[in-house]
Amino acid sequence: MIALSLAEIASVVGGQTHDIPDASVQVTGQVVRDSREVEPGSLFVAFVGERVDGHDFAADVVAAGAVAVLASRPVGVPAIVVDDVLLALGALARHVVARLGATLVALTGSAGKTSTKDLIAQVLRTKAPTVFTPGSLNNEIGLPLTALSATEETRFLVLEMGARGIGHIRYLADLTPPKIGLVLNVGTAHIGEFGGREQIAQAKGELVEGLPEDGTAVLNADDPLVRAMASRTKARVLLFGESDEADVRAENVRLTGNGQPSFSLHTPTGCSEVTMRLYGEHHVSNALAAAAVAHELGMSADEIATALSEAGSLSRWRMEVTERPDGVTVVNDAYNANPESMRAALRALAAMGKGRRTWAVLGQMAELGDEALAEHDAVGRLAVRLNVSKLVAVGGREASWLQLGAYNEGSWGEESVHVSDAQSAVDLLRSQLRPGDVVLVKASRSVGLERVAQALVEGT
Ligand code: ATP
Ligand code: MG
Repeated sequence: MIALSLAEIASVVGGQTHDIPDASVQVTGQVVRDSREVEPGSLFVAFVGERVDGHDFAADVVAAGAVAVLASRPVGVPAIVVDDVLLALGALARHVVARLGATLVALTGSAGKTSTKDLIAQVLRTKAPTVFTPGSLNNEIGLPLTALSATEETRFLVLEMGARGIGHIRYLADLTPPKIGLVLNVGTAHIGEFGGREQIAQAKGELVEGLPEDGTAVLNADDPLVRAMASRTKARVLLFGESDEADVRAENVRLTGNGQPSFSLHTPTGCSEVTMRLYGEHHVSNALAAAAVAHELGMSADEIATALSEAGSLSRWRMEVTERPDGVTVVNDAYNANPESMRAALRALAAMGKGRRTWAVLGQMAELGDEALAEHDAVGRLAVRLNVSKLVAVGGREASWLQLGAYNEGSWGEESVHVSDAQSAVDLLRSQLRPGDVVLVKASRSVGLERVAQALVEGT
C-alpha cells in the first residue's frame, strides 16, 4: 500500500484509535486479512468468520511486525476500532485508489473472468507496472485488498468483480471506480441465486452504468445481452468479438492440433497473428476482450498479439494440461464449471483428442436451480455429439442426469458410466487408461474433482 499514517487511516474509516502511542506511525506494508501474510509494516484486518475470529490473532500479528489491527473491538494492542470492518476496508480502498496514479480496469461476466483478468494483466504488464486480482478474489473483501496492494509505481490496476445478486457490482465499482469496464458474457452461472438471465444481465451491467463519460465500456459484440448494455452507459463503447461489427475482432479462428486457438487479431490500428498457449476455443473471446482493453490503453496490434501469444495460465486447475510419461494427457479443469464452460471444455477435449481416445470425467454443475436437469442432460448429449469416447459421471443425482443425457443422445451403453465418488473414478480410470488417451476432469468447485486430476497426474 502507499504509506499512510494510522491517524489518516483512522480518519478515513471513521475509527477510534486504541493502544496507539503514536498515531503518526505509518503503515508501509500490505493490508492483509491472513495472519500468515503479515510482514513488518502491515495493517492486519480482523474479520469475525464462522470458525475463526481474526481478533484472536491480534497479539501475534503485532509481534510479527504489523503496525496495527483494523478491528471491531479493542484488542490490547494498537488498533483502529470501527463498527463494521468490511465497510472500513472498503472506505480505505476507495481513499487509496483516488490517490493512485493508476488507470483502473474492472471486469465481470459469468464465465472467464479470472482467465481474462490474467490475460489482461499479462498483456498490460509488458507495457507498465500492473497490479491485478490474485486468483479469483473478486468479492467485497478480495477487491479492496487487491486495490490496496497497489503502490505509487502501479500504472494499471486490473480488478475482477464477481456478483451473486443485484447491487453487488455497484458496491464494488463504487469502491474502486474503473475507467475501463469490461463485461464478458451473461451465462447461467449462479442462475439459481439470481432468478434468471435477465437478472444476471441487470446485475453485470451495473459495471458500465457507473463509468465516467471519458471512460470506456468494453462489451462483447457476440453476446446480445452484453451488447445491449451499451444503452446503459455514458462512456464510449468498444466492441470485441467475432462479429463483423466488433472494433476488436478475430478472423480465421482455428484450433491447432493440440487444441490451442490461433487467429488474426484486428484492432482499429492494425492486424497481427496470435497463437495462444492456453487451451480451448473459449479463450478467443477472452483474448479479444484483453486485446480491446490493451488497445484502449494505447497498445498496438503487434504488441498485443505478441503478449497474448506468450501468456500462460496464472491460476490453478483451469485447463491445466499435464503430459504423463506414459503418453496419457490429463486436462485439469476442475476449478469450476457451469454450462458454458462445460461446453467450451468438451470442445477443447474433442480438438485435443483427434485420433486419440478421449475421456470426459465430469461432475455436477452447481447452483442451476430449475434448469439443473436440462443443463446436465444437455452436457451429456454434447459429449456424444462431439464423439468423446468415454463419459465418467461422478457424484449423485446430477451425475446421473449427465449419464442419462449421453445415453439418450447416442444410445450409449458402456461408453458412459456413473460412479458415486472421486475415488471410484480414480480406480476406474487407473484400470482402463491406455497410452495416448486424453482425460478432461471438470465439475463445480464443491465437487472437488481436482483430487481425481491430481491422482491421475501423480499415480502413473
Ligand atoms: P468464478 O466465478 O469462479 O470466479 P470466472 O468467471 O473467474 O469464475 P474462470 O475461472 O476464468 O471464470 O473460468 C471458469 C471456467 O470457465 C473454466 O473452466 C474455464 O475453462 C471456463 N471459461 C473460461 N472462459 C470462458 C468463456 N469465455 N466462455 C465459457 N467458458 C469459459
Ligand atoms: Mg474467477
